[in-house]
Amino acid sequence: MLQNIRVVLVNTSHPGNIGGAARAMKNMGLSRLVLVDPLSFPHHEASARASGADDVLAGAQVVATLEEALVGCSVVLGTSARDRRIPWPLLDPRECGTRVVEQVGEGAEVALVFGREHSGLTNDELQRCHFHVHIPSNPDFSSLNLGAAVQVLAYEVRMAWLAAQGQPTKVEKVEVASVRSEELATMDELERFYEHLEKTLVDIRFLDPENPRHLMSRLRRLFARSSVNRSEMNILRGILTETQKMARGEPHKRKDQ
Ligand code: SAH
Repeated sequence: MLQNIRVVLVNTSHPGNIGGAARAMKNMGLSRLVLVDPLSFPHHEASARASGADDVLAGAQVVATLEEALVGCSVVLGTSARDRRIPWPLLDPRECGTRVVEQVGEGAEVALVFGREHSGLTNDELQRCHFHVHIPSNPDFSSLNLGAAVQVLAYEVRMAWLAAQGQPTKVEKVEVASVRSEELATMDELERFYEHLEKTLVDIRFLDPENPRHLMSRLRRLFARSSVNRSEMNILRGILTETQKMARGEPHKRKDQ
């Protein structure tokens, strides 16, 4: 599916930017690069900046005109550092990602077109596009490096693609603990804990049973907010037991002794 997305770079003058774009593409799972009349390609700087995405560079198609680059494409999105170069249907990068994924999902070939470092895309080139995409950058400094612009759009395409596949965008860190100890403490366990806590607070004279004020309800509110799990509850109960022993002046044997 992602192989039906081509990234088209028009008249790129710095080969390093071609390498940067290739790397950005490969990072995001895109592979099809089309270069319209690049100033110098292949070039060692392109390979250096690609740092590992040499396969994208090796597979890059070099053509003479934008027209050739777009053969077979039914959806073309042109990028511009200025948001209103010419009045045209405009998408932000997120909408662009969604649109691209929708279209390739329906079997279409899609092109993302990027302009020259110094002058972007011409009006004529922009008018060949179905949509324009502007990355909402600082209006006083709106032009991103070409490779960075490719990165932003490739990332949005990836996010939309992962969402469409139902694939997660993050892997939660799983604690090495038994599933049971990860389970939240139950209401009855919590009640036993509150009883134990209250007794301990009386034992250490923090809580005056004659004048309890709102201490226990405040503590209940605190623990209710913390979603205490079983193993955490065991730790808390252990602390209370040891605290009570200390309060009674019982000889205390440390675990490490
Ligand atoms: N001076 C040029 C800037 C070109 S930057 C101009 O004003 O158009 C080179 C290319 O990077 C642009 O043609 C476009 O493809 C991409 N690019 C840079 N900044 C962008 C932005 N804010 N939104 C979308 N594309 C951008």
